[in-house]
Amino acid sequence: MQVYQRQEHGISRKDISENALKVLYRLNKAGFDAYLVGGGVRDLLLDKEPKDFDIATNATPEEIKALFRNCRLIGRRFRLAHILFGRDVIEVATFRGHHDAGAVKLPAGKQAIASRNHEGMLLRDNVYGTIDEDAERRDFSINALYYSIKDFTVSDYANGVVDLQNRLVRLIGDPETRYREDPVRMLRAVRFAVKLDMQIEASTAAPILELSTLLKDIPAARLFEESLKLLQAGQGLETYKMLREYNLFQQLFPILAEHFTEDHSSQTEQMLEHILAATDVRIAEGKRVNPAFMFAAMLWYPMNVRAEEIASTSGLSDYDAFMIAANDILDEQVKNIAIPRRLTTTVRDIWQQQHRFSRRFGKRAFVMLEHPKFRAAYDFLEMRGQFEGQDVAELATWWHKFQFAERDERNKMVQELGGGNQRRRRRPQRRKKPQAKSAS
Ligand code: ATP
Ligand code: MG
Repeated sequence: MQVYQRQEHGISRKDISENALKVLYRLNKAGFDAYLVGGGVRDLLLDKEPKDFDIATNATPEEIKALFRNCRLIGRRFRLAHILFGRDVIEVATFRGHHDAGAVKLPAGKQAIASRNHEGMLLRDNVYGTIDEDAERRDFSINALYYSIKDFTVSDYANGVVDLQNRLVRLIGDPETRYREDPVRMLRAVRFAVKLDMQIEASTAAPILELSTLLKDIPAARLFEESLKLLQAGQGLETYKMLREYNLFQQLFPILAEHFTEDHSSQTEQMLEHILAATDVRIAEGKRVNPAFMFAAMLWYPMNVRAEEIASTSGLSDYDAFMIAANDILDEQVKNIAIPRRLTTTVRDIWQQQHRFSRRFGKRAFVMLEHPKFRAAYDFLEMRGQFEGQDVAELATWWHKFQFAERDERNKMVQELGGGNQRRRRRPQRRKKPQAKSAS
């Protein structure tokens, strides 16, 4: 272990959030050890503003809870304490220990609960231990740096400071074992490499391709959270490219992977790159990003291909085939990434409106303007225009003009549509779903 004194590192108390300091002081005062750890220390050493401040301590969750009124215990896989200060949450974790029972003697009153599945994956990780053990349980060397508010030192258990200087993302311990314990570490390696502009150290990178399929065992809810951190944190495009090289993106989005080509030229791939780049720009501009819009764009072409297949084999109307395809694709995708219902509803809305944009007769165009998802759906149409050219682009231009026009102008626009391919069509009669072909 290396200890860096106050004058050897650039961290000072004023870089640390007041709430995190309060928690550190209170734990110290009650006689516990407490450190700032993880991304907070790492990012400060890199002169970046930390996203959040995580704290590690030798106090158990129950002991933490007893100290803070505003404390909630959460998590199953990892039991953690959340100390709430209004909207700000400080995460406090008790030092983790090793799992090989017997090797560690646990102090009285400390629980030991850990379990693994057949692939070596840790299902629960609630064995408490010392700070040395805690450091070994962390993922990367650059994440195992501990800052103490008592003496202002940074304790470095895995040569993280040197790796930070050399810009290397290096797993602590044997990479294959660490990935098998928690396959999400593969995603984290890529995320940190892109976010911190570092290389994944060779032995840390080596097993990823082969182990990438282990991600199938990760609960879809956790992968949803991770996918947002990967794709909606400002460097989505670059992250996607690296994830794809390691065969990781394919595990998260198998539906998209079916459309992947050697030269990244399919419509699906082009749209994917476009939406990720556009998302990165919005984040850089400090604008809000809507994950539903991103998922709608990513899955749009695969969904259309599916709709065409359904229409041509079933004899259903285009519209019905389209809606069935929309449901199928979303049902499939949520098996990998549990996109919450409120978002899939918006995805479906955006898609459905695409179909309706070309039906502008009578009152229809006016009604569409009132749709709660009009804005997102229109933005989506405009984006499609850039890919699908002519017809869609013209349609988007029409809608652009229409939404900003005065009432009279709008009426005129609708009247001018007359004839041509815009003839008023009767809604196709609902046809029954054909009987499933009997297996022969
Ligand atoms: P950021 O918050 O900037 O994304 P971070 O490193 O703080 O990065 P968190 O997910 O907040 O990441 O986790 C905090 C710390 O917990 C990490 O720095 C690491 O030490 C440890 N950690 C998180 N996830 C894992 C994991 N899957 N395996 C081992 N250690 C982990
Ligand atoms: Mg963090």
